Order: sequence, then structure tokens, then C-alpha cells
Amino acid sequence: MPVSEEKPLKQEPLRLGKQHAWHSLETSQVLALLRVSANQGLTAAEAAQRQAQFGRNVMTPKKQQSAFVRFLLQFHQPLIYILLAASVVTVLLEEYVDAIVIFAVVFINAIIGYVQESKALEAIDALTKSMTARAQVIRDGKKQNIDAQELVPGDIVLVQSGDKFPADVRLVRVRDLKVDESALTGESVAVEKSDQTVAPDDVLGDRLGMGFSSTVVTYGQGQGVVTTTGDLTEVGKIQKSIAGAQDLETPLTKKIKEFSRLLLWVILGLSATVFLVEYLRGAPVGETFMVAVALAVGAIPEGLPVAVTIMLALGVSKMARRRAIIRKLVAVETLGSTNVICSDKTGTLTENQMTVQQIVAGGQTYSVSGLGYRPEGEILENGLPADLMANTALEQCLIAGMLCNDSALKEKEGQWTIEGDPTEGALLVAAQKAKLESWKLEQDLPRKDAIPFESEYQYMATLHGGSQPVIYLKGSVEAILERSESMLLANGERTGLDRAGINRQVERMAAEGFRVLAFALAHVPGTMDGIDHTNTQSDMVFLGLQGMIDPPRKEAMEAVQLCQQAGIDVKMITGDHAVTASAIASQIGLKGRRENGKLVAVTGKELQQVEDRELEKIAEEVAVFARVAPDQKLRLVKALQARQHIVAMTGDGVNDGPALKQANIGIAMGITGTDVAKDAADMVLTDDNFSSIEGAVEEGRSVFDNLTKFIVWTLPTNLGEGLVILAAVIVGSTLPVQPVQLLWINMTTAVLLGLTLAFEPKEPGIMDRPPRPVNEPILTFDLIMRTLLVGTLLLIASFGLFLYEVEQGATIAQAQTVATTVFVVLESYYLLSCRSLIRPVREVGFFSNLWVYYGIAAMLMFQALFIYTPFMNTLFSSSPLHLWQVLRIFGAGVVLLLIVSVEKSVRFRLARRKNSPAN
Ligand code: ADP
Ligand code: MG
Repeated sequence: MPVSEEKPLKQEPLRLGKQHAWHSLETSQVLALLRVSANQGLTAAEAAQRQAQFGRNVMTPKKQQSAFVRFLLQFHQPLIYILLAASVVTVLLEEYVDAIVIFAVVFINAIIGYVQESKALEAIDALTKSMTARAQVIRDGKKQNIDAQELVPGDIVLVQSGDKFPADVRLVRVRDLKVDESALTGESVAVEKSDQTVAPDDVLGDRLGMGFSSTVVTYGQGQGVVTTTGDLTEVGKIQKSIAGAQDLETPLTKKIKEFSRLLLWVILGLSATVFLVEYLRGAPVGETFMVAVALAVGAIPEGLPVAVTIMLALGVSKMARRRAIIRKLVAVETLGSTNVICSDKTGTLTENQMTVQQIVAGGQTYSVSGLGYRPEGEILENGLPADLMANTALEQCLIAGMLCNDSALKEKEGQWTIEGDPTEGALLVAAQKAKLESWKLEQDLPRKDAIPFESEYQYMATLHGGSQPVIYLKGSVEAILERSESMLLANGERTGLDRAGINRQVERMAAEGFRVLAFALAHVPGTMDGIDHTNTQSDMVFLGLQGMIDPPRKEAMEAVQLCQQAGIDVKMITGDHAVTASAIASQIGLKGRRENGKLVAVTGKELQQVEDRELEKIAEEVAVFARVAPDQKLRLVKALQARQHIVAMTGDGVNDGPALKQANIGIAMGITGTDVAKDAADMVLTDDNFSSIEGAVEEGRSVFDNLTKFIVWTLPTNLGEGLVILAAVIVGSTLPVQPVQLLWINMTTAVLLGLTLAFEPKEPGIMDRPPRPVNEPILTFDLIMRTLLVGTLLLIASFGLFLYEVEQGATIAQAQTVATTVFVVLESYYLLSCRSLIRPVREVGFFSNLWVYYGIAAMLMFQALFIYTPFMNTLFSSSPLHLWQVLRIFGAGVVLLLIVSVEKSVRFRLARRKNSPAN
């Protein structure tokens, strides 16, 4: 019965018992058990079938606080305790309506708080999730990049330094593979992996043949077969959520919480005093208690901490729209204060669209025509097509570029793109322009082994077999010259290496902004079938240079201008040659120390030699840092921070982690960045573009502006309410505003009016002013004065109109309704003024934030209900008002707006005069 043999797809489903101790099985056994070949991988059909069987490779998130608990926590606030106590007291006083209202308010308040907090959490959650992990796999015999969630047992995965293992895998092949398993074992020293078996009962840390999900490859490469996915992986078992819970606390929210807490005690103390004084005066206990409660309710800015969190969260989504994904909420805040940005060059400030334009080989200089990745163009010698055959060095130089290469050139609908590194793509294009045929060369010189490019070593090498076994090398000029002894001439003969001559050529090319790569080869015995760094240390034959352009990004140039105008220094940090870096930096318009008119570029080597003190000075003054290794990045950040700078630093490699963590804002590249860099970062750029950093800074500044506006708007209300109650106590009058009415004011205005300020567009000239010093208090002297002014005006208007109405013969209910409405209406007017704290509103545009008007309209509608519906009248002891009473309130609003506007414009002029150069 041979039938079953011929239908492999209909095989028995895999049975993976828990009994498999994968680490104790030989790789061949593992592959057999998982029914997969290490070279071919699974087929798409098998993968789909296994996914149906084993599920997706996801970990069920750790149980977060349940919705119910989060709702209950809304009641866990001192103010709420006071209110709950108050409602109990009112019940005892048989004031049932008041009791119900207070209780309802507490409840509604909790709902609002809960909803807002959930929204903030959701927004942040969604962003974290939008960055899904990817995995390199072999399926259907081809390398593919898939969503890590699609992995199934049996998948062949490839990892290299910077990657996280996407699942638990049994390693099949390793090359210098070192893995940081601290996430799992707590052991911080990286483990050197192998493909060997260990005893079944060896502990995790000793299972050298395994790669565990979420652990990080710090060095080398590996290939393995997925044994376990999702919750069954070792991390899955210990339920260590990888993403980690988002921390909603930032220095600002902490400061505000502390401030609120302090205020709380002050007000509670005050309330207690009031209670005592009234009580000693002989007032009834119940009434006295309500006065004390009113003071607490009115004066405590209970909505402030939540509002701040919400506004920061809103900033997160605004930044996401500008392609900057915030990973830590604190970044939103810090961005507004950033005053130095250290940026990568390649791909961030430049296009990363490389084109080879010059080749130097065998004593000749050639130019290459054509632009972009379309392989159309020619190798020209003095403007005429060059004869490739006549120059062996040129031919070899191009072949080296083609074979010592991990990238591929692709055509799709007439569009040429590269898969892989653009630097390598450019070399492929140059070789094709020279009519070299890759398939033929690859057949003649099949690749046996390779050392991949790493920034640290600055070169890549490949070993080829065939009739003439050879090692090809490509990399930075320094890395190649260091390893070369001789050089190839046009006629194919070798001669001594002319370092000085080559360096002159390199200088010339670099000064024109070319990124220069050097090439070399070494003939080796055919018996050799593997290479490492020791095989390429010396005796290489230098072949030539290829110079490529990588034009600066237009939007990056504009963004750099904007930043510099905004008092933010931009520094370029690159692995590229110093002269190239300086030339590109000039094109981009960086400002920094110059010598002979040229931007000074300091190299990593030079940095190594200077002392920390000296480094601080250099870090501050110099704008271009070239041939910089990752550890120098860390030193640079520290040096800048030692001078009180708030530093944003970009990075993408494995070794950038420490620098990204140290920076005030660590920025990882979304496209080219490694998992390690992304994990360490506060922010990830989805397009790797410098202009997105600038965008995020703008948004950060705007969020801070709006936060300040909200605070400046909200504090006078609390102040005014507190003052009204105190004044009433001092003069011994009836309370102009009852506790439930204060609750009404605070509950409705914060949401309907205050939060609309979050939608204020950026102020004009937001990038014309210097960064906000981090330690500057939110409320400057001017703003404190304004808060006092407006608080006092509220007191006068509401108490004044209250007394006036009573004198005119209005009922207490009416007079109280007037006093309550004064707060609502005056706050609406004041909201208009707060749309800009310094500038006249006409400069920010009357209609640039329609939300403000919608908010006011809604607020007035609610207030009308409060005044005119019998239902509300019962609940809040309010009473319908006459037209004149209403008009008087609006009159008071106009007066308030006028006074504040005058105060604002006087300060604005004073500030202008102080800043104008004439003074
Ligand atoms: P950057 O991205 O800042 O330009 P890199 O660290 O990527 O810096 O590159 C540093 C130098 O290493 C480059 O100037 C180039 O000479 C060389 N280089 C870059 N990419 C490759 C590669 N794929 N293979 C060999 N050498 C490379
Ligand atoms: Mg690079």
C-alpha cells in the first residue's frame, strides 16, 4: 500500500509530547521529530496546518488589573473619602437629596475617571502593539521575513546579533553565537551557544544547544528549528510579559501629584479650622460640617493629575501620526526640553539611496553614469566607455563588490529596489553596469562561508571555492588597508601597497561627499572551507575603491534648520569616514566648530584619547563625529549630560543599547533598528527619518504648552471657590455656593471646558524659541500672578453678585444659582484667554480650535438645564433666573476677560521690550 507514502500532506499531525527534552536530542533527531529539513524549512501549507494545530506564537498577556478593580481604584482618593463621609453625614442629617447627589457625583466622577484612564491606557497599548516582532525564517526553501506570531514548531529560523529569539529553538548551526539570557535566567553574562546536546535534566542556563524566546543575541549568528511557541515557551511558562506594563508616571505627573497632595493637607487643615471656628461660634454641627466639606470640594484640584496624564497620552497619538512611536510616556514631556539631538547619518539624515559614481582601480579613475538602483549606465574612463578587460584590478574590484555581498537587486513593475543593505545594493548595480553576470560568477566561485558586516569591524569577508579559491573583502578604507600588504595593478600583477597614494584618493573622494568602500582579495588553498577574523588579518591584496553618493534628505535639511532655530544643537554621529561625514554635514547645514571653513569632524579614535573634561568641551562644540564605535556614543551622551544638556540620541545596532538608555530620549530606528535598540529606546521612528524627530519635538513642546494652559485655567477656579467659602465664613454669611453646587462646577467644567485646551494647535513660532529648561517650574511668576488675579476676580464676581441679588430681594436659591453660574460663565470666558498664555488670542487664530467653542456651547446648555429644569432644581437646590440676572453674569464675564486681556497685553509688551535688541 504505497498510497500513504505519496501524500505527505495527509500525514499524521505532529505529536509533540511534553516529554521531549529538545536540548538533549541530537539536531538530526530534532529535525526528524519535527519533520523538517534545515535547508528547505516547512512549506507554506505545512506551516498553515501546524498553525491550526498549535495556534499562533503569542503569549497570553499577564492578567492586568481587572476593569472592576480599576474602577474601584477610582474611589481610592482622599477627596472621594471626604465626599463619601459627607454623604453619610447628610444622610444622618436627613438631607436625603443632597446625600444622593453627592453619591451620584462620586459615582459619575469615577466613571469619567475610569473612561479617561482607559482611553489613555488603550492609546498607549495600541502603539506598543503596533510594533510587532519579525522573524527571519526559511520556508519553501527561501529566506523570508515574517511576523513572529506566525511561527510554528518546525520552522527554521535565522537569528543574528541584535535579534531576539522569537520562540524556543533547538540550534542547528551557530557562528560565534552569544546570547544574553538575563531575561530568563537572571545571568547577565552572555552565554556562548553551540549545537551540542546536554543532559536532559540540565538547567536552562546550561542548555547550550537551545535558544530561548525573548533572549537576545548579542553576537554572531545562528540557525535553529522552532520547538515550542507561545505560552509553552520557557518565558511563556514564567509569564514574564515581554512588553512590560506601561508606566503612566512621569516626573511631571509626579510633581503634580505631590503638589495636589500638599494642597490637600493645606485645605484639609483649613477646613478643620473653619469647622472649629464655626462650631465654637455655636453653629449647628451638621451645617458646619457641610461648610468644611464645601471648602475641601471647591479648593482641591482633584481632576488635575488625571488631566495631565490624558494630555500626555494625547501627545502620544499626535506623535504617532508624525511617525514617532513613543514607548515611554515620559518622553512626551522630555521632548519639549531637548536641546541636543545626536543623529545617525546614513538613512536618517541621508536618503540611504546609494549610487556608485566613482571607481579607482589599477591606477585609473573611472566614473559611473546612471542614478538610483536601475542598472542602466556605464563605466566611463575620461568620458568614454571603459574596457573592462584592460584592467584586471577594476574587474576584480567589481567582482568583489558583487560576491562579497548579502543583498539582492529586484525589479518589480519597472521599479528597481534592493533587498538588504543599500550600500551593498549600490555595488550590485555598479557590477551590472559593467555587464558582469552574477549567476555565472556565482557558479564559478560558489560561496562557502562568510563573515558578515559588523560596525565594530567595518568589513565583510566571503570565502569562495571553485577552480581558484579566494577570499573577498570589502569594508572601510582603514579596515582594508590595515589588512593589505600589496595591491593589484591593471595588468594583473602585484606591487607594494601605496598607502599614501590611496589615502590621497580617498581624501579627494570623501571631500566630495562620497562614501568610500575598499576591496581586497586573497587566494587560498581549496581545502579551506570556513573563515573567521584570523584568516583575514593580513596579506590581503588591495583591489580598489568604489565611491558612492547618498544624497541628504531634503526634509531632514529643513528639519535641521528648524531645530537649530529652536535652540537645539544637531550633531551627526556616523561610522563613515571623517571627511565624507564633514562634507555631508556641510550640505545639510549643521552648525559646529569649523577649521579653514570646514566643519571639524572628530573621529572615534580621537575621542578615545581625550579626557572626560576635554570631551565635554568637544561634545558641545563639534557637530560631526565620524568612525564612531557604539561605546564612544555612550561617552558622548554622558559628556553632554555633564553639561546639563537634555540629549536625544539615535541608534539601531545591538551595541547602541547603553547609549540609548543613557540618553534622555533614546531613539531607535523602526526599519533598520535591531530588537535590542528598540527595547532600549524611549521612542521609535517608523520611517527612520530625522524630520520625524523634529516633528516629535514640536509636538512635545505643544503638549507642554497645552498642559500649562490647562493648569493656568483650572487653578483659579479652585482658588476662587475656596476664597468664596472662606469669605462667607469670615463675614458670617450664608454660603454663596453649596457643596453640591461646587461639585457640579468642578465636574462639568473640567471635562467640557478644560480638556478642550488639549486640542489647541501649536502656537505660531513654536520652533523659534529656545527649549524649556527642565527645572523651570510650570507656573512662572507671571502665571502665578495671573492665577491670583483671576481667583480674586472670581471671588468678587460671585460673592458680589450673590450679595447684590440677596439685597435686591432674590431668594437664597436664586442668589446661589447666580453665584454658581458666575463660575461657569466666567470660566468659559477665561478659557478663551487661556488659549494662549502670552500672545493675544488673535495671533493664534480665533477659530483654530473649534473644540473650545463646542465645549462652551455644551457647557452653557448644561448650565441652562441646571438653572431651568425642575429636576436639577431639586437635585442641586438651584432656581430659575430672570433675564437680567443672567445678563449681569455675562457682563461680569466680559469684565473679567477685559481685565485679563489688559494684564496679558501689558506683560506681552514688557516681555517684547525686554527681548528686543534695542534695549
Ligand atoms: P553609518 O551607517 O553611520 O554610515 P556603518 O557603521 O554602517 O556607518 O559603516 C561604517 C563603514 O563601514 C562605512 O563607511 C563603510 O566603509 C563600511 N561599510 C558599511 N556597510 C558595509 C557593508 N555592508 N559591508 C562592508 N563594509 C561596509
Ligand atoms: Mg550603516
